Formats: sequence, C-alpha cells, structure tokens
Amino acid sequence: MNFIVQLSYLIAAVLFILGLKAMSSPKTARRGIVWAGVGMVLATLVTFLHPAVQGLTNTILIVIGIAVAGGLAWWSGRRVAMTEMPQMVALYNGMGGGAAAAIAGVEMLRALRMLPEGLQSQAQALASDAGISMAAAEAALRAEGAGSANIASALGADVAILAILGALIGTVAFSGSLIAWAKLDGRMKRNSLVPGQKYVNLLVFVLAIVFGIMTFFTDSILVVTLFFALGLLFGVFVAVPIGGADMPVIISLFNALTGLAVGFEGYAIGNPAMIIAGTVVGAAGTLLTQLMAKAMNRSITNVLFAGFGADTQSASEALEGEMKDVSAEDAGIMMAYAERVIIVPGYGMAVAQAQHKMWELVELLQDRGVEVKFAIHPVAGRMPGHMNVLLAEAGVPYDMIYDMEDINEEFAMTDVAVVIGANDVVNPAARDDAASPIYGMPILNVDEAENVLVIKRGRGAGFSGVENALFVGDNTRMVFGDGQKVASGMVQAVKGL
Ligand code: NDP
Repeated sequence: MNFIVQLSYLIAAVLFILGLKAMSSPKTARRGIVWAGVGMVLATLVTFLHPAVQGLTNTILIVIGIAVAGGLAWWSGRRVAMTEMPQMVALYNGMGGGAAAAIAGVEMLRALRMLPEGLQSQAQALASDAGISMAAAEAALRAEGAGSANIASALGADVAILAILGALIGTVAFSGSLIAWAKLDGRMKRNSLVPGQKYVNLLVFVLAIVFGIMTFFTDSILVVTLFFALGLLFGVFVAVPIGGADMPVIISLFNALTGLAVGFEGYAIGNPAMIIAGTVVGAAGTLLTQLMAKAMNRSITNVLFAGFGADTQSASEALEGEMKDVSAEDAGIMMAYAERVIIVPGYGMAVAQAQHKMWELVELLQDRGVEVKFAIHPVAGRMPGHMNVLLAEAGVPYDMIYDMEDINEEFAMTDVAVVIGANDVVNPAARDDAASPIYGMPILNVDEAENVLVIKRGRGAGFSGVENALFVGDNTRMVFGDGQKVASGMVQAVKGL
C-alpha cells in the first residue's frame, strides 16, 4: 500500500511541475491549471490510504470538512469577478499559510502529550504489566506528575526546527495575506496601527524569534501559544504599512512564504507531496517576487521596511493645472486620423470590462491603415499578467502586445497614446518627483506622445493614492466616462466616418 501511496505522490508532483510549466503561456495555461488540479485531487485522495493515517477515527469529519471547503471554493471561484481575482488569490494564499501553521501546531501538541524520554519505557512496562493501552499508561504516569517531553526531544531536532520555522512563516503568511486581502478589497486603508509602528514591528519580530527558540526547548503549551500569537501579530504589522504601489511585491512574497511553510511542514510530517508542492510554490513565488520587485525598481527590504510609519498624507497633493476634456466621439476621430496609436490598459479597463470594445475599435482603426499597438506595464491591473489575460480573452493577437521595456522608446514617435483605466503605471511622478511615494518605479512614458487621451470616470487617483500630473499635461485630453461606454462612443465615431 505504501508503494502505491508514494507512487501517487510522485505522479502528483510531476503533474504540479508540468502544470506550472504550462501556466507560463496564456495558450496552455488552462491545461496547466487542470493538470495541477488533478495532481492535487490525487494527492488528497491517496493520503487516506497512507499507512500513517490508518486507524484514523475522525474520517467522516475530515470528509465533511473537505466537502464544505471544496464546495465553498468551487462556488466562490465560479462567481468571482476578474477584478476580484487578486483578493481571492490573497485569501487562498493565506489559507495555505494557515494550514501549514495548523499542521505545525498539531505536531507540537502531539509532542507535548508525549512523556519525557526516560519515562517512555516505564509507560511501556506499565501498559504490559497492567494490560492497559499505552495511552492509558502514559495518562497514569502523567497523573503522578511525570510531566511532558519537550518539543525538540519528542519530534527530533531537525523536525522540530522545520516545524517551528514553518509555523512562523505560515502564521505570518496567514495574517499578512488577510491584511493584503482587506487592502486590495478596499476594506482597509490604514498604514499604521500603533505609534512608532516601525519599532513595534522590530520588537514583535525579535520576540517571535526568541519565542521560536524557546519553543524548541519547551514543554509548556503557553510558550507555544505565545509563539503562534506573535507570528500572527507580526504578519498583521508587516502588511499594514505596505502601501503606495508596492502591494504586488508583498503578495508574491507571501505566496513564496506559504510555499516554504508547506514544504517545511511536509518534512515535519514526512509527506513528500507537500514537500514538492511547497518547494515548487516557494521557488515560483520567489522568482515572481524578484520580477515584481524589479518591475517596481525596489528591493524587497525597501518594500518591507521603507513603508513602516510612512506618512501617506503626502500621497495626494493637489495638482497644479487644469484637466481639459474631449468627448468620446472627438477622441475616436482623433485616433482615426492618426498614423500610430499605442493603447495602455490598466486596472480600470478590467473594472469596465472594456477589452472587447477596445479590440473592436482597434480593428476599425487597422482597417483605416492606423498602426496600433498595446503597451503593458508589468504591474498594471491587480495581478501579474492581468492585462494580458484580458486582451487574450478579447482575441487580441499576442504580437500586438508589447512589454514596457520593448515599447517605451516608441511613445515619442506616437501620434496618440490612449490610456484606458491606467493611472499609477503612467504617472510621471514616479520618474520625476523624488519626494513621491512611487518614485523609482519605471513607468510607461505616455507623456512623450504627441497627444495623450486618458479614459477614466472622474478625477480619482490610482491604487497608490498619488495624484497624476499627466492628466493636466498640455498634450493630454481627458475622456471622462466608464471605459466600456467611452470605447463604444469611439467605435460609433470611427464607424460614422
Ligand atoms: P490604478 O489602480 O493606478 O488606476 C486605475 C484607474 O482606473 C483609476 O484611476 C480609476 O480612475 C480608473 N477606473 C476605475 N474604474 C474605471 C472604469 N469603470 N472605467 C474607466 N476607468 C476606470 O491602475 P494601474 O493599472 O495604472 O496600476 C496598477 C496599480 O495597482 C499599481 O499601483 C500596482 O502597484 C497596484 N497593484 C498591482 C498588482 C499587480 O500584481 N499587477 C497587485 C496589487 C496592486 P476613476 O476612478 O477616476 O475612474
């Protein structure tokens, strides 16, 4: 039986890796998700046959738990809007970290219920002499004041270390991801919870490490509980100050941490599927974190620590200058008579679901001989690849979609740059204003185009809350309105020519 279990874990691991590989291209991504899902179902089912879980008494409870959680995930996955996907990812991420921490918690509780090493043989002798179970013998000795084993001796030093590390990382990823969810969902705007947040964070971190070390040697449940509480608190404190436009980095960092925590706990309970799945997620998440940090031109330490206690008031200074607006029809006509047009989509295009109308507009423009390209910023939208997914869904060919570094020089030779629902990723403050919270993040240089059209509903700032001087530029015209409605107006105008 153990052979079948281990073979199934190996097959599941191969499916995870192949699935992840397939997810790297939009063409094969669906297939990749199915493969990884099949791997996960296989790994879950076969765990019931694992020799270590034979004699399990609460199988029904576990099956009910899986059915309820699976049903909820299925239901929420089907109804979630594309724009809410990042929040959902943050939640699932948190659940992964929480599950890893819970496994560590169970292992530690199991360890604390064991007798100290020297008394194990005494319990065995008592069990056989008195004809009682080992558990009853242990309980009898404990009633006589035998005490418990400490975590390190009960689990073994290597397992104890990995369980403790996994617990710390898992608790931080759990509570931190919940804060990321609240921020992405617009439920939390605060950037600090206590005065001197930076120093409080440092203190909580040091305390969590100290309690982690104490947990290794302890036989006290109080120490273990405090250790978990400090991990949870640190996750909250580390995520709260992350603001500006740095959220993508922190989300992928939590993702990587969750993978690591799962991998460590897989080692602690001797489950190879968890070790492999956790390592794959940890490695992929680490690469993504590096990519995101590079896209923001920030180091991870800078993201994590520069925001602590930052004063966000400075984020929304009033703009000097007037916004000049045009109608959707006039904007459409301007594009129709241009030679070169670059479209820059952002989060607002996802909110408006305007990608289909934009593609209809582009096809009309191409029929008139206009050269049209799409420019994608790596953190446009609310998740990596968000804009690519939307454009692919609308049928835009991949060869019309350009990454920032490949197209940025072309704006200066472009007649019309059309910004639809993008804000932070085209904010010149990131390039020109050293005092700005988003300073240093590379942007799409749309302000260098001869004419700039900005489609958005009102004067609202972007995700970072930083005002955008692009909107009051001499060459900029605002096309106020919902992205889809404006795109429809443009389509009508071009059709009417
Ligand atoms: P922003 O969030 O900066 O701006 C979006 C703009 O869209 C807003 O100014 C809003 O203005 C406009 N908008 C909203 N709804 C509509 C609508 N229905 N029709 C037209 N316009 C609309 O988006 P960007 O894509 O430029 O930047 C992404 C930001 O999100 C960055 O700061 C990035 O760091 C952050 N982020 C990115 C993640 C990622 O992985 N990509 C993850 C988490 C955060 P108005 O309200 O006036 O319409």
